[in-house]
Amino acid sequence: MGYSFSREGFDAVLKALARTYRIYAPVTFAGQGRFTDVDVVRYDFVTDASQIEFGKKSEYAFKELLTPLSETLFYFTEDEVKEADAQPGEVLVFLRSCDLHALKRLDQMYLGNGFAEDPFYKRIREKLQFVLIGCPASFENCFCTSMGTNRTEDGYLFSVEEQDGKILCEVPSNLKLKQLFMENGAWIEKALPSFVEENDVRVTIPATVPNSIYKAPLWDEYTARCIGCGRCNFVCPTCTCYTMQDIYYTDNGRVGERRRVAASCMVDGYTNVAGGGEYRRTKGERMRFKVLHKIYDFRRRFAYDMCVGCGRCDDACPEYISFSNIINKVDQFVKEEKADE
Ligand code: SF4
Ligand code: SF4
Repeated sequence: MGYSFSREGFDAVLKALARTYRIYAPVTFAGQGRFTDVDVVRYDFVTDASQIEFGKKSEYAFKELLTPLSETLFYFTEDEVKEADAQPGEVLVFLRSCDLHALKRLDQMYLGNGFAEDPFYKRIREKLQFVLIGCPASFENCFCTSMGTNRTEDGYLFSVEEQDGKILCEVPSNLKLKQLFMENGAWIEKALPSFVEENDVRVTIPATVPNSIYKAPLWDEYTARCIGCGRCNFVCPTCTCYTMQDIYYTDNGRVGERRRVAASCMVDGYTNVAGGGEYRRTKGERMRFKVLHKIYDFRRRFAYDMCVGCGRCDDACPEYISFSNIINKVDQFVKEEKADE
């Protein structure tokens, strides 16, 4: 069932929802981008519709809400450990189709990967609900259609899309919401969210890769070009690597807290081990690991690809390295190897 709202009408809906949820959505921060006078779109808590950025792709993903960059897990003294309290209350997150697919990957890694669920992830995840933002057109660098993440049929409370100054919402089910929407907007027959059917960028993912991929010369380019900044990982909605940090409150180190902090497989030190070993020294080796994890290794374990084709890594890379280009180079390499057999 669809509804059409003026800005004021949708604001009234948000205000009513804010009594139950903290609302989290993409917001434009003027002048806070990486160059002078450049804006950035990232997630923040919102209280009215005018704060929500419907027209641009967020440069950072929603995942910081579920997997904070720095999260205190527990506090310790010499004799005892106390688990950190969970954030109270329900949260409503506005996101796009590719990000809802990314959520499936996060759930897979934290809740469906091995014998135990991650309790710290789970206690946040259980409090989240989602609103799907429609995508009437593809953004730069997106390749969601190649990854099959351009459409989403479920997993959200309602959809939202801005059209000709109106805000259109479709409510699949939920009588309470329907009543709230009816009070503040006008019923219309259809307000189904738009889904992108074509991207300028397309990728072809090989079904399998030969062992020769591990020493392929195609990775050398990235040893030369990549600066190992890790931006591609931090903006990616499906990157989940983290490390642990113990923070001591006193000089004698007997009281403190343990934090889980975001990590990146592209930065120096990530694969360091005791005795001075380092598994992936060159940036090319790190790129190989990252790319094959996203389009091959994860699929071998879970039968679908990890990458959702949001293109954020391409948007963020200061060296203009394109992840979609690399996927197509891997595919080309696999085809050439097969032709040589
Ligand atoms: S690897 Fe790049 S395109 Fe794929 S999900 Fe991560 S940020 Fe998006
Ligand atoms: S953002 Fe670009 S330069 Fe930085 S680590 Fe990723 S690929 Fe390398």
